Amino acid sequence: MDKPKTVKILKFHPEKCDGGKVCEKACSQVHFKTDEGGDKSAIRIIKDGNSYKMHVCDQRGLCLDMCPVGALTRRKNGVVWLDKDVCIGCQACVGFCPIGAMRKSDARIQPFKCISCGACVRACPNGALELVEVKIDDIKEVVYHKQGV
Ligand code: SF4
Ligand code: SF4
Repeated sequence: MDKPKTVKILKFHPEKCDGGKVCEKACSQVHFKTDEGGDKSAIRIIKDGNSYKMHVCDQRGLCLDMCPVGALTRRKNGVVWLDKDVCIGCQACVGFCPIGAMRKSDARIQPFKCISCGACVRACPNGALELVEVKIDDIKEVVYHKQGV
């Protein structure tokens, strides 16, 4: 199978965000069928002075090679995917992710992450979120242990 060359990632427009966190609720629906948001959302909206910032997986895939059981793969659409049926819940990827975007919730032993499904984009009443296609090469698929860092 050809390796995917592009992936869709979330882009945030802080000037449009009102901090309502409708996106978090939409995301927790995707992952846990609840509108609690917060710990059950892969995307987090964080107050940043007078504005907001988004915190979410950027699909770089730095974690791909480090899962001991191969539960993390890049899918055909480029998205970094955690297979819940393979994952043993060791939490190594949660500790490893350099931006802390692999999420953990009390509801399930397996972590979870953004799958670029776009539910948050569709839910935002202000158009503050967008899915944009980027080249995987451009988002630097480096793996720390291979580089000796
Ligand atoms: S928590 Fe699951 S996906 Fe993450 S490294 Fe451990 S086995 Fe792999
Ligand atoms: S694109 Fe989907 S999985 Fe990613 S943060 Fe938005 S709702 Fe969650």
